[in-house]
Amino acid sequence: MPVRSQRGILDRLQAGIVLGAEGYVFELERRGYIKAGPYVPEVVLDFPDAVRELHREFLRAGADVMVALTYYAHREKLKTVGRENDLEALNRQALRVANEVAREGDALVAGDICNTWAYDPKNKEASSRVVRAMYEEQLSWAVDEGIDFVIAETNDYLGESLIALQVIKELGLPAMVTLASTRPHQTWDGYDYVDACKILADQGADIVGLNCDRGPATMLPIIERVRNRVSSYVAAQPVPFKTDPAMPTFESLKTASGTRAFPIALEPFLCTRFEMAAYAERAKELGVNYIGICCGGSPHYVRAMAEVLAGDRAPPDDRGARRGKREGIPRRLERLIA
Ligand SMILES: [Zn+2]
Repeated sequence: MPVRSQRGILDRLQAGIVLGAEGYVFELERRGYIKAGPYVPEVVLDFPDAVRELHREFLRAGADVMVALTYYAHREKLKTVGRENDLEALNRQALRVANEVAREGDALVAGDICNTWAYDPKNKEASSRVVRAMYEEQLSWAVDEGIDFVIAETNDYLGESLIALQVIKELGLPAMVTLASTRPHQTWDGYDYVDACKILADQGADIVGLNCDRGPATMLPIIERVRNRVSSYVAAQPVPFKTDPAMPTFESLKTASGTRAFPIALEPFLCTRFEMAAYAERAKELGVNYIGICCGGSPHYVRAMAEVLAGDRAPPDDRGARRGKREGIPRRLERLIA
């Protein structure tokens, strides 16, 4: 069992803001390792050094959590690219790489599960059994390799996210459950996003919120309502794109000529690092506890967010606490250059 941080996610959230960093699949696509479209993380097995490098860059930028690249590393998705037999090896390797890099900087390791494409509210009972088995399978490998908590993310259905929550809680791990928000107000099974977060928190999720789909401008208004509604910790992991009320998600962004920008012509809509720093600051003011970034995220954004949150972050350990706060320098960077 790998040696991990002494302070778990809940201790750190108690002490301050935790900075998340995601967007592995999009960034590795930009670097030439993942195919746009299926977005399956075969790179974990085929080019593990590329994954290791990106983890390390996020760590150096100031991220507190290394999220194992097991997004879409489930049976349904791997079947579509004919790599179902690599499922266990891929999951274990992703966890090992995340653990390896996390130890370089006292970061936490999160196991990651996501929307399965197998859940069907019209065939709820049977499809729930399939989804549950997929989550149990993935998380049994994650627990075996060593994780601090689980992120269940990009959940289109509240029903599916509740299955994830149940499986995580049965394992006795802290659970962060965040919803996708591709529709204006409701999950695909018809729950207002704020109500859905409240239900998740009431069912025992330690951290609830939203990830992916929306840029800061259209995600934070919902997050503010979630914050006012729940007493659990709240997470926001937007995409770094300039969404607006007319085009609230990155899937809906269109260029002036009317062409859909998603998923590989999004560059004209990218936020600057300063806009992402401003988002992090605003999220902090709203009382968001886990402030991160999703698809489109890359190390320079995480660095900008780390800098603006430097005085409010949870010290990774006692050594960090004793060394105190140095405004403007992400604490982890401070440790690396010390
Ligand atoms: Zn995303």
